Amino acid sequence: MTLTTTDRYARSKELFAAAQAVIPGGVNSPVRAFRGVGGTPIFFASGSGAHVEDVDGNRYIDYVLSWGPLLLGHAHPAVIQAITEQAARGTSFGAPTALETELAELVIKLVPSIEQVRFVNSGTEATMSALRLARAHTGREKIVKFIGCYHGHADMLLVQAGSGVATLGLPDSPGVPASTAAATLTVEYNDLEAVTELFRVHGDSIAAVIVEPIAANMGFVLPEPGFLQGLRDLTRNHGTVLIMDEVMTGFRAAPGGAQSVWGIDPDLTCLGKVIGGGLPVGAYAGKKEIMQKVAPAGPMYQAGTLSGNPLAMAAGLAMLHTAFDSIDGAPTPFQRAAGRAQTLADGMRSLSEETGVPLQVGNVGTMFGFYFLKDAGAKVRSYAEAKQRVDADRFTRFFWAMCERGVYLAPSQFEAGFVSSAHDTVDIAVTLTAARESLLAARG
Ligand SMILES: *Cc1c(COP(=O)(O)O)cnc(C)c1O
Repeated sequence: MTLTTTDRYARSKELFAAAQAVIPGGVNSPVRAFRGVGGTPIFFASGSGAHVEDVDGNRYIDYVLSWGPLLLGHAHPAVIQAITEQAARGTSFGAPTALETELAELVIKLVPSIEQVRFVNSGTEATMSALRLARAHTGREKIVKFIGCYHGHADMLLVQAGSGVATLGLPDSPGVPASTAAATLTVEYNDLEAVTELFRVHGDSIAAVIVEPIAANMGFVLPEPGFLQGLRDLTRNHGTVLIMDEVMTGFRAAPGGAQSVWGIDPDLTCLGKVIGGGLPVGAYAGKKEIMQKVAPAGPMYQAGTLSGNPLAMAAGLAMLHTAFDSIDGAPTPFQRAAGRAQTLADGMRSLSEETGVPLQVGNVGTMFGFYFLKDAGAKVRSYAEAKQRVDADRFTRFFWAMCERGVYLAPSQFEAGFVSSAHDTVDIAVTLTAARESLLAARG
């Protein structure tokens, strides 16, 4: 492709070429590479509220929001103030600070199943550690995960792992030892019968079931009625640890996470994304009886030089306090964002009917997702159905049409979308107008 001054992505293309020389694939996380939609990734220069500006000066309404963390939008004043004030006092001590206890207390208050919290630096670390803990607690080795669910890139979880892997079409990753992968049993999401059968055969050697309470790394798939409760019952009956991976859904589906929406009481919960207010934080948390096995309270080792980092704790505290505190009885910023997400999702449902482009639209709290279906009336409940039933070309045309109209969506329909409290009614209206035109353009 030739670069001309009228190319709206010219500078992004130059930067991507330079990045590819020194960074594998030009990106530090594969989902950023736009492999699912072709073209080159857009490089961003700045963000404010619901809007981002790229290096070519194009502006967008942003529904990626750093893949979820920015519940209050970009550069929210309360978060920026918390970070800068803490930075002036020191960025890291490698010793405890009061901020860690304060954030742990807030998390415990928000998520009823949680009694103790250990902070780490990413969602990957959270899930990896939670699995080690489940194995230490049960003295068993096998784990059950769902095909298409993504839980970070730890070896035993890089088996049938959803979006990034799905978009790139890698069945599994080279470098994962076969012996490690062998301890991971996989089943289709929403297939409680298959899980029941797994427990019938392997029940007493399964340490943990790990699940995304909304499968949001293969698009946006809700748990079918009874699925999550069925997992809770099976795991309880077999002395298996139930781990809810709420790295994405935590503080996004609801203040208490998706587990509070479906009324499930997991043993362990993994958190990330929103909890760090836009800085790198993860956490694994849950029942005190299990968490007490973590060193130095107990024998399961897990550590981190920058864990509980004061900048990140300050950002997380500012984010959560702002998002869930109501001023004078007004809706909280979270409630506002959830309302906008509802308007957006309802709008997409109407546009699907109006334009005749079959979509499966889902939304819970401040999250949403949509599949471009090959056939009207088809339903996606699992990764197998997603792969079979979505129209990739139509999504690609829609994605680029939206970019041209100033709306930035995840560059793959196997990803969820996010709304922040900074998205106002005008942003949503502009998005739906752009979506109408883009659906007609994508219809072909
Ligand atoms: C993003 C995500 C992870 C991994 O978190 P990182 O911070 O990217 O390591 C784990 N689980 C789920 C459900 C996620 O969405």
